[in-house]
Amino acid sequence: MELPPLDGVNWVPLPEQLHSDETGRPFEACSICGGRVIDEGTPYLIEKGVLKGETIFEYAMCLPCRASMQAELSEDSMKRIEHYFDERVDLVERHRKLSEEHPDSVEPWMSTCLLSRRELGEEYQLFAQCDGPDLVFAYLPYAICGSEIENIQQVLSKETRERLDDFVDDVLGVPGDGLKLPVVI
Ligand SMILES: [Zn+2]
Repeated sequence: MELPPLDGVNWVPLPEQLHSDETGRPFEACSICGGRVIDEGTPYLIEKGVLKGETIFEYAMCLPCRASMQAELSEDSMKRIEHYFDERVDLVERHRKLSEEHPDSVEPWMSTCLLSRRELGEEYQLFAQCDGPDLVFAYLPYAICGSEIENIQQVLSKETRERLDDFVDDVLGVPGDGLKLPVVI
């Protein structure tokens, strides 16, 4: 999504909730290309899928990998997702408000669904933007609940949905059952 750059973003050391469940430590490398992300000054993204308190998939993705994934998705799908988000959340205003009220507390940024504003329930996904060892408070982090993930799937073109399912299958090693929305979008 194209959003204006933000001034004065705050950051905190990556909270444990966003460490890799597999290693118990912060992600050190991009899960796709293997490039290092833990070094200061390296921007990357983290996504985790949670079901009934368990992390069912997780990965870190460097920005070049994100850009090449995005380039493969249909423009129509991207536009429809943007529209879906725009109708439900003002990300600029959200950032302003949360930065003012909770400049260094992660919980309020990820405790309810970004789109439905409801409690997260049993299934949700966490999305975070990081820089080396730090979590950045920008448009991310946020959480999206399972039913909103499902709604977003509905607005994607068939080819984009298939491409994302392949990604989830191949790269993350979990079956793409249509309920996983990679952070590429
Ligand atoms: Zn990468």
